[in-house]
Amino acid sequence: MDLTLKVIEGSRQDLFIAGERVAPRSGRYMPSYDPTNAAPWYEVADAGADDVDAAVQAAKRAFHDPAWRRLTQTDRGKLLRRLADLIAEHADELAAIETRDNGKLLKEMRVQLRAAPDSYLYFAGMADKLHGETIPVNKLDMLNFTLREPIGVVGMISPWNSPLMLLTGTLAPCLAIGNTVVVKPSEHTSASTLALAELIAKAGFPAGVFNVITGKGATAGEALTLHPDVAKIAFTGSTATGRRIAANRLVSCQMELGGKSPHVVFADTDIERAVNGVVAGVFAAAGQTCIAGSRCFVEKSIYAAFVEKLADRTRRVRIGHPTDEDTEIGPLALAAQLDKVEQYVDYGVADGARLVAGGHRPRRDDLPGGWYYEPTVLADARNDMRFMRDEIFGPVVGVVSFDNESELIGLANDTHYGLAAGVWTRDIDRALRFARNVDAGTVWVNTYRSAAYMSPSGGFKESGYGKRGGFEVMREFSRLKNVVIDYSGATQDPFVIRLC
Ligand code: NDP
Repeated sequence: MDLTLKVIEGSRQDLFIAGERVAPRSGRYMPSYDPTNAAPWYEVADAGADDVDAAVQAAKRAFHDPAWRRLTQTDRGKLLRRLADLIAEHADELAAIETRDNGKLLKEMRVQLRAAPDSYLYFAGMADKLHGETIPVNKLDMLNFTLREPIGVVGMISPWNSPLMLLTGTLAPCLAIGNTVVVKPSEHTSASTLALAELIAKAGFPAGVFNVITGKGATAGEALTLHPDVAKIAFTGSTATGRRIAANRLVSCQMELGGKSPHVVFADTDIERAVNGVVAGVFAAAGQTCIAGSRCFVEKSIYAAFVEKLADRTRRVRIGHPTDEDTEIGPLALAAQLDKVEQYVDYGVADGARLVAGGHRPRRDDLPGGWYYEPTVLADARNDMRFMRDEIFGPVVGVVSFDNESELIGLANDTHYGLAAGVWTRDIDRALRFARNVDAGTVWVNTYRSAAYMSPSGGFKESGYGKRGGFEVMREFSRLKNVVIDYSGATQDPFVIRLC
């Protein structure tokens, strides 16, 4: 199977519905751009509501079709194992496609794609471990039990920053459970999801179990979330879009939204390691990660020294083409994102923060036309500054000084978000107190941005709800049914409830 860049370059990518590539009914396509030079490199179908309906109907038929419905959970697990093998076989091609589409470092994509098969294998193993329970009741002649069932058609909407990795977290468990899926990737990064569709078909999943609708969020995305035959929505994206989806429809949602995560450094830590951790937490993937530790809190006694070291390391971050092994920061994925980052750095400076590193688009002849931005440190920041309140989704960190632990917790939790948090300290008691008191779905101690598909992750507050990862996600994407059987043979008073 040829999934190389050569095949995609200059091509027109159609939708993937019921196992086939299908042209959009409108005949409209839109360009997808290479962030390293802002040049269009392929075109993707611009689906309308009628295309979305066709995909949902295909998924609905597949859900009820015995070819999928009557597969045992063990057989679903086997299909996922075959898919894991195919992803491993094509990992380099998938990594290259995503790097070309969103500018993420190729070396990072290789790591993500090496982990992806393991993630599918993990959920393949779970396929036959999801079960209900027998509930002891107060009647000897009644059997009360629960069944765990697939939900139906799941509509998935993914963002542009890590399309395959973020999709895997919900797709693998959904397939293990027996749901069917319609995915709407971001219009900016559809190629890798379409390539995955080819592998899913090759693995032997029945047609219609996995469908891809490409197009704009406001049209194709919205039509998917409003479709009455979509039984659950798995949305990863901004809090603003998540709020709109949740307001539009009374349907179960799993929401992975934005963040403004606190990253804390106590004076007792190894400063070099902490600087490295803060850099990893906010500048990796050019800051385009939901978990970015974009608010850095540093204990007063080491504040000045820490800021100096952080600024020094930041100035030495190597900006370059994402396929170069030496590059540490590639371009931002979208032109609009570059403008947004620039605007927020301006807000920070206008509000009184001190620019100590970065703050510009690099002027380099070897990066012509790309959407690059220098990693940026704004010191002497405060939580009430606009760049510290809003999610920027770019390589910008604000640094704040704090006096003591109780002040710190107040500062860390002073945000609408609650996705992740990090702390650097050698004091285990303090680390545990922080972990207990911070409002964040994931807490890292002496590490940051360490991901595991076995971990239940998901945000608090406006960072979303519902979990992905671990066994929790199997509960999230299945439904629980209660069955009560009376085997007494007795006839009851029809006008009195039978408590059992
Ligand atoms: P958006 O919310 O703009 O877009 C996310 C997805 O939703 C895209 O596929 C988009 O399509 C689609 N979409 C846009 N409007 C609608 C709509 N009205 N109805 C349905 N779908 C719609 O977010 P960004 O693309 O800007 O992604 C970055 C955001 O994602 C950040 O806030 C980040 O924190 C968050 N994120 C959260 C993660 C988490 O795990 N918590 C992980 C990664 C990112 P299109 O792009 O075609 O418009």
